[in-house]
Amino acid sequence: MSKAKSFKKEAAHVANDLQHRKIIQFNMSKYEAAVADGKLRYKDLSLAKEQASAIKDDVVKRLPYLLEEFETNAVNNGAEVYWAESTSDLIDQLTHLFSDLPVETLVKSKSMVTEEVNLNEHLDKLGIESVETDLGEFIVQVAGEKPYHIVTPAMHKSKQDIAELFNEHFDTDVNLSAEELTDFVRHYLRKKFVSADVGVTGANFLCANEGAVAVTENEGNVLLSASFPKLHIVIAGIEKVIPGIDHLPLFWPLLAAHGTGQQLTVYSNLFFGPKKTNETDGPDRMLIFLIDNKRSEIYSDKKDREALKCIRCGACLNACPVYKNIGGYTYNTTYSGPIGSVISPHLNDFKEYKHLSFASSLCGKCEEVCPVKIKLTDLLLKNRQDAQVHNDTLTDASNIALYNILSKRSLMNLPGNYKSKLTKVFQSGLIGSDKKLSAFEPKTFSQQWKKNKKR
Ligand code: SF4
Repeated sequence: MSKAKSFKKEAAHVANDLQHRKIIQFNMSKYEAAVADGKLRYKDLSLAKEQASAIKDDVVKRLPYLLEEFETNAVNNGAEVYWAESTSDLIDQLTHLFSDLPVETLVKSKSMVTEEVNLNEHLDKLGIESVETDLGEFIVQVAGEKPYHIVTPAMHKSKQDIAELFNEHFDTDVNLSAEELTDFVRHYLRKKFVSADVGVTGANFLCANEGAVAVTENEGNVLLSASFPKLHIVIAGIEKVIPGIDHLPLFWPLLAAHGTGQQLTVYSNLFFGPKKTNETDGPDRMLIFLIDNKRSEIYSDKKDREALKCIRCGACLNACPVYKNIGGYTYNTTYSGPIGSVISPHLNDFKEYKHLSFASSLCGKCEEVCPVKIKLTDLLLKNRQDAQVHNDTLTDASNIALYNILSKRSLMNLPGNYKSKLTKVFQSGLIGSDKKLSAFEPKTFSQQWKKNKKR
């Protein structure tokens, strides 16, 4: 089955799953209340967004220069910087690195780019235990699932789902409270942190001017992953660079306010290379892998490169009526929701994933909430145009016939309530098989108007 067909099938299924809807609506309502509060700290939120957008526009324009500046300064700090063109290039480099090191256990903080490259699966093949240390990531890893959402990986699970999951895997009491479940994970992970050979983190921002890696978090697991093991590996997409730490007072609160509704996350980490000679704690080595994975292809198109401004706050997912109905897994990609629908076709095979650009009502809510003012609707429309160039939404004969009929009023208005018959035939493709379309009036509005006028 093609990716587009399985997307439609899964979307129809999930949209009708009332239990799923109940959990998502509950978790989203908490998010919405928190974000509304988080935004209140701004005297002028739109000005902050304007500034962030302008800085990111400049970053995207100067991306190659800023990346080189970051590399030079990170190396001066004692870090080792490597470039990876693709997933396979990154995995080859890591395989080579680990072949020289005795690595049994690796602790990992939440990082979508490591999901993008399926890092855990590759490490598993190398015989390395990779332990997710973010609570939400830990839950989905235990469940054998992928993150449901780029900020809240276990958003689709209720407290009871998690209690049952842990009971099944760790024999904990099925009636544990949320606090007790968290406490169990805390103790479980402490042992992993102190015994791990390697710690892997992502990066929220790469500060070019200082060669520093900025990572925000709420659980302390990033700090522990980066400081306990002797080797700290950072894996980051090339779009994460910003000019310098002077910009963090703008970006960190914007990310927190839009991602979780906090004024600032609990921990804001800045890593300036490995342990220095006069320091007692920290890793002996810090390796930074900068991965392209088709981002430079996005960069090469002057319009598409706007998508590289994304700071992965997740706000557009939470605002999207389509995401709220079909959920994160239906997209079947690392990045879901509006930004996922924009970038996933480019990061993967465009032909296979172009259908995602149509998974939007273009209501504009995503664009309205985006803290860096990405023109998401324009980008979705651009993808749709590109999809036509790639040949194609209208490939099969029935779709071509439907398009030709729907676009001609004379054909639609043929006698015999043709419209109702036609839409009945195509109903499942148009709105899914679980809903019913109302029948059209036998006579059109203009026919009725003319008739009434004669009276
Ligand atoms: S596109 Fe904007 S709203 Fe969506 S995740 Fe990126 S920064 Fe956040």
